[in-house]
Amino acid sequence: MSDDPTIFEQIIDGDIPGRIVYETETVAAFLDANPLAPGHTLVVPKEPYERLDELPDDVAADVWAAVQELTPRIEGAVDADATTVGVNNGPAAGQEVPHVHVHVVPRFEGDGGGPIHAVAGSRPNLSDAEMDEIAADIEASD
Ligand code: 5GP
Repeated sequence: MSDDPTIFEQIIDGDIPGRIVYETETVAAFLDANPLAPGHTLVVPKEPYERLDELPDDVAADVWAAVQELTPRIEGAVDADATTVGVNNGPAAGQEVPHVHVHVVPRFEGDGGGPIHAVAGSRPNLSDAEMDEIAADIEASD
């Protein structure tokens, strides 16, 4: 965590304007200022953890509980057919604000968007052995 307050802390602290739609002791949610769709909401821990693996378990649980609670409320507010929920976890994944945030993006039939599978570049052509090795490495890490 850096010492300078992130843009999201400044919104939470009321130092810059933000359309806050949800707040608990540990979590806040507000509309994205440059929405991908009406109702595009960011759900954040109040503490400025940069990446998902830095979140303490209880805060991670609070963030996910907020996402679960808010998703149907957001869909209802903008009459969406569905939502895409995702995290850009690190700059290489497109994270611009170094403060964990879950994007809740309302989706509409025929909105021209794609599934979350569209975020990566070309798909790798992995052999069974490579897949087995990757799975084993993930399982063994901890
Ligand atoms: P990232 O690329 O880090 O996953 O997404 C950052 C998001 O924060 C972007 O969707 C962007 O529109 C949003 N954002 C950036 N600055 C502000 C701001 O000052 N206020 C609000 N509400 N959202 C912001």
